[in-house]
Amino acid sequence: MQIKNYVLGFPRIGENRELKKALEAYWSGTQPLENLEETARTLRRRHWALQREAGIEAIACNDFSYYDLMLDTAVMVGAIPERFRTMEGTERYFAMARGSGDAVAMEMTKWFNTNYHYIVPELRADEPFALDASKVLAELRYAREAGIDPKVNLIGPITFLGLSKRIDRGDPFELTGRLCGIYEELLAKIEAEAEGIVVQIDEPYLVLDPDPAVLSLLRPTYERLAAAAPSLRLVVASYFEHSTEATRILVNTSIWGVALDFVHGPKNRESLETIAASGKVLWAGVIDGRNVWRSDIDRVLGSLEEIAAVVPKDRIAVGSSCSLLHVPYSLSHETALDPEIREWLSFAEEKLQEISLVSRIFHEGEDALSPAQAHALEANRRAAASRRSSTKIHDPAVTERLDNLTRTERDTPFEERIGIQHETIGYGVLPTTTIGSFPQTPELRRIRREYRRGEISREEYEAFIRDYIDRCVACQEACGLDVLVHGEPERNDMVEYFGEQLKGFAFTLNGWVQSYGSRCVKPPIIYGDVSRPEPMTVRWITYAQSRTDKPMKGMLTGPVTILNWSFVRDDIPRSDVSRQIAVAIADEVDDLQNAGIRIIQVDEAAFKEGYPLRKSEIPAYEAWAVRDFKIAVAPAWAQTQIHTHMCYSDFNDIIATIEAMDADVISIETARSGNELLKVFAKVGYSREVGPGVYDIHSPRIPSTEEIVAQIRSLLEVLPKEQLWINPDCGLKTRKWEEVEPSLRHMVEAARIVREEG
Ligand code: GLN
Ligand code: ZN
Repeated sequence: MQIKNYVLGFPRIGENRELKKALEAYWSGTQPLENLEETARTLRRRHWALQREAGIEAIACNDFSYYDLMLDTAVMVGAIPERFRTMEGTERYFAMARGSGDAVAMEMTKWFNTNYHYIVPELRADEPFALDASKVLAELRYAREAGIDPKVNLIGPITFLGLSKRIDRGDPFELTGRLCGIYEELLAKIEAEAEGIVVQIDEPYLVLDPDPAVLSLLRPTYERLAAAAPSLRLVVASYFEHSTEATRILVNTSIWGVALDFVHGPKNRESLETIAASGKVLWAGVIDGRNVWRSDIDRVLGSLEEIAAVVPKDRIAVGSSCSLLHVPYSLSHETALDPEIREWLSFAEEKLQEISLVSRIFHEGEDALSPAQAHALEANRRAAASRRSSTKIHDPAVTERLDNLTRTERDTPFEERIGIQHETIGYGVLPTTTIGSFPQTPELRRIRREYRRGEISREEYEAFIRDYIDRCVACQEACGLDVLVHGEPERNDMVEYFGEQLKGFAFTLNGWVQSYGSRCVKPPIIYGDVSRPEPMTVRWITYAQSRTDKPMKGMLTGPVTILNWSFVRDDIPRSDVSRQIAVAIADEVDDLQNAGIRIIQVDEAAFKEGYPLRKSEIPAYEAWAVRDFKIAVAPAWAQTQIHTHMCYSDFNDIIATIEAMDADVISIETARSGNELLKVFAKVGYSREVGPGVYDIHSPRIPSTEEIVAQIRSLLEVLPKEQLWINPDCGLKTRKWEEVEPSLRHMVEAARIVREEG
């Protein structure tokens, strides 16, 4: 029978983050493993039932994970790094994710261009792969016991290898043949258990610019997998971009079908003719799996009909563009949202309904709708119309301001500015500073929470913040730092804090999305034109400045980072939203300097992670990202020094872009890599000032003066002292005061020692 619809995967963290809580209780030893397992079983059953009730036909099993699916796959194929081989089972699994004793955790990195992080498998030339199918088969059995006829989700061998690292620096793809053997064994086991079922093999790696060598592996790999279990229907899924080069090859193998993302990879349309000719099944991802907007059903149907003009309808299934892991669980908790805005949204649970509705209309016609579905379609049309015309979204004042924007960059060139700044700000060689935040103590969090809930008065709250700033300033003065910060006590998050004060942002109560392991984030939703009604930071920064004669650095978050860490409206280009945010930040920069602040840092922690997946898209991204950073700092006078900060990034490909941002000083995270990351700055003749982190802030360890001296000396091998600032890697919010005070004292002392060496 034809499968008419599907979801690629469902969020596993639970409606109320049950999995997070159970994991943390297990890790802290307050609950036994059985409780965690029971929670996990309940969640799976609940999520399956939800999908079935919504009318989803291809429901995933094995999309669940205690930590991460790449980690699960590493365990499944027996890719266990040496240091964990003495352990086993659950203990080993969590040790790989989080470290245990001397066995440091495996590396974690961003999953494509999302904010989800996966565990990076470590492989060697002679990796002793061995199949452990226990998790996959157990999930399959649970699902069937729960009365579900599931598809099995797997991460494909190409993606697994493409995202792995070879600890012996070889090419992971050398292992393709042997890894394929493991997948053959696995598929045979699945077939023995459930003949004929669908196996969804995720190969998102195929949306990256393809390497011909990797493309050449596709046919042999997938012919082998298809032959290993001939009754299974293999669907190869890609998402987040198009995968046209790979699709052309895949549809000419013996797989059953492909799942493509038509939301974030519109170019996938170019594959339709080939798919049609091949006779394969097409799973059309038309419901956005990674953004929170309600689909405009009529538009979705329009694009499906275009697809159906090429590929026969009875070979098309309708589904999510990617796993729903990247959106919050359910709108039902969002009782505090403006009801009009709420109407425009759709989280995982609501997306199931959309898929089911669209698939019913597409395959059977509007007449086949149940009364409830007909009602849902009506509501959908009303919401789409309201979103197109609402005055909450469209602010003519913002449009006018942007249409008439004239100040788009600073008016003095860097070479001129920097001399003026040295004179007016007055700092010598190797100036010391920090990245912004100081310890976010439990007490500070409690005070903010109590203030939010109205449990303490504004006066009490503000007195507390003032005291914190006083302490922070006193600490920095005692340490002898040159450029001070106020410590960011009023912020719980560098994006949310600004979002809350800008127009056009909405916040959820329960819109949690898994970031890694048990960690979840609650991104703001940018629903409308963005503007800044009032100054956002001036009050606390000027208070902080009034407590010291040293320069106080104003602290802002840049437009690209605000954009990347939010759910962004999809009715106008992202670059337009970014520009609106830039103008709002520019107003803040101007207000800060008018209030006497001489140094302003505009953080772009997420600049690098916003890069598109395809090289052909990069120039356009860089153009608007740079444009908007420059707009954000354009009001700064020559004597106002602009800093920016970026977290761990490889700058090799983007150094020209970094320079084009036209900041006076950039601080970067380098401590873990010695002076490696800095070399490119020297290589391209980067002329601006740089603050490479001199110690790692992720660890509670207090670095000694000698260590920091050594680190500064190694930086000086790369760049001249006139160009260097001395600072930690990143903000200090996760550290304790007992760690911060001595660390900063050692840092200042180290800078002094090196300075005196001349
Ligand atoms: N100013 C921020 C802080 O210090 C920067 C954080 C970041 O780069 N992620 O916390
Ligand atoms: Zn950082």
